[in-house]
Amino acid sequence: MRGVMEKCSFCLQRIEQAKIAQKVKAGPSGDIKLKESEGTIPRTACQQACPAEAIVFGDVSDPESQVAKLKAQDRDYTVLEFLLTKPRVTYLARVRNPNPAMPDYQESPVSMKEFTEKNGNPFEHHEGGHGAGDGEPRASGKTTGKGAR
Ligand code: SF4
Repeated sequence: MRGVMEKCSFCLQRIEQAKIAQKVKAGPSGDIKLKESEGTIPRTACQQACPAEAIVFGDVSDPESQVAKLKAQDRDYTVLEFLLTKPRVTYLARVRNPNPAMPDYQESPVSMKEFTEKNGNPFEHHEGGHGAGDGEPRASGKTTGKGAR
């Protein structure tokens, strides 16, 4: 709908189209599961359009899928996980070089603890503030690296 912000649907129409095509192909065999290894899982529009391949989409129930392997990494994290909203979208933390002798060394904080020490707690209620929507930043999260869906 024009002028209305919509949530990501994970390109449902592409998935449904692929499911229908797989059902037609499977016929009476009943092999209707989409499989990454067979190339039957469609790419989402944003995944297809991103030249940096920063978005990965797939079947998390398939341990051999790229998205399942990325989600299994230590770098995988969920934004605002403590709110228990359990979003399907997760992110991979940026890899930083902690060696100050190296040219790509970054002093930026690498954890919430370090960020809070440097900038204060972004979730703390500010004096004279009005909670969410008072113009104060609420989160520090920058999404970098590959998103796993
Ligand atoms: S293009 Fe990407 S953001 Fe948009 S609906 Fe598809 S998966 Fe979601």
